Amino acid sequence: MERILTRWIDIPDLRHLNVYEAHGGYKALRKALFDMTPEEIINEVKASNLRGRGGAAFPTGVKWSFIPKDSKKPVYVCCNADESEPGTFANRYQLENDPHGIIEGILITCRAVGAHTCYVYLRGEFNLQKRRLDEAIAEARAKGYVGRNIMGSGFDVEIYTHRGAGAYICGEETGLLESLEGKRAYPRNRPPFPAIQGAFGCPTVVNNVETLTNVPHIITRGGDWYKSIGPEKSPGPKLFCLSGHVNKPGLYELPMGYPLKDLIYEVGGGILGGKKLKGVIPGGSSFPIFTAEEAVKVNMDFDSVRAAGSLMGTAGVMVMNEDTCMVDALRTIAHFYHHESCGQCTPCREGCGWIEKLLIDLEAGRGRMEDLEILIDAATNMEGNTVCVLADSLSMPVKSFVPKFRDEFEEHVRLGRCPFRETGTAAKGHAAAAAAR
Ligand code: SF4
Repeated sequence: MERILTRWIDIPDLRHLNVYEAHGGYKALRKALFDMTPEEIINEVKASNLRGRGGAAFPTGVKWSFIPKDSKKPVYVCCNADESEPGTFANRYQLENDPHGIIEGILITCRAVGAHTCYVYLRGEFNLQKRRLDEAIAEARAKGYVGRNIMGSGFDVEIYTHRGAGAYICGEETGLLESLEGKRAYPRNRPPFPAIQGAFGCPTVVNNVETLTNVPHIITRGGDWYKSIGPEKSPGPKLFCLSGHVNKPGLYELPMGYPLKDLIYEVGGGILGGKKLKGVIPGGSSFPIFTAEEAVKVNMDFDSVRAAGSLMGTAGVMVMNEDTCMVDALRTIAHFYHHESCGQCTPCREGCGWIEKLLIDLEAGRGRMEDLEILIDAATNMEGNTVCVLADSLSMPVKSFVPKFRDEFEEHVRLGRCPFRETGTAAKGHAAAAAAR
């Protein structure tokens, strides 16, 4: 497949403006400024069926069309570069290697929704990535592509980069907006949605880095071309972050709808150490796990993964082999969400803590059979009862790990210890759990 989002692999120094322009860069912006109306840009993106790559998979053109056309307030675009989902590492490569692709996507989005200011919110640890983006913004400004009167069109856009302090919840779009405004990143109740009341109380589009980098290609080559890549309702090139027990973990660009089996066994070189596959989380740690039997039948696009009982999220594909202790894997996930809960909602703040505590006890051999029902009960009571979806991000793994690997959970109780303690990957986690007691 032609590399579209990872062109930097074939084009050295694509991050510099002269190289980017030599390979067709900023032609889409010129087209959007001089040959298309904002409505035509939105319609082209709608026609492409581009869906948000940040996890929610909402149609991008539809999201843009929610911005009021006659807003008396300023309209803002926010680029969500707070990439924090465990197992996800696509945006960091894009920021490092293709910052002009992001800038061009931002500028076209601003033109489509009538925004003159964009904030790029980067995760706290993205030092190099912020530097690369700032350098690219400076290059674009010097050439007249950012700032006043872009390309002589009379259209103005300023882009500001803003680094967070490393909290997962800042990647939730309303937590991001609160943080951007200088407040604690407590996610907001919706409605009102950001399209009506976003940054500083004004209409705001929040788009993920990967989503925005698709936009120039759609404007240049058209929505029909884009729709021809992968399934029509969930199309396009996709960045897959493959991690865990595979021989060749890494970032791979593939068409939407690519078989998960081929991603693991062909692209990823198969299971590490020639072991058997045990489970796969397809979209970052927030989502239901597939057993090996389920995983080999799934195609990786938003609708197919949902139909198979999970969600594609950020396409952070986490592969686990037969030596993985599923109790310990779930305990690790629970520890993360407990640590990252902002504490605003009781079901999330308390529920994540109780789930982690039960899993520490199960892994340490102190669990009871009834704890398995309590885990499911606690997870069910968290779902849909909170301001944001962080609670669901733990609930969904719990409600898939426990029933799908129930024998393994029960064995921990029957043996009074972790059956993987001597040989499996649980050894390290077990030591951490013991330390936490
Ligand atoms: Fe905070 Fe959790 Fe409530 Fe989200 S669900 S707002 S992270 S307490």
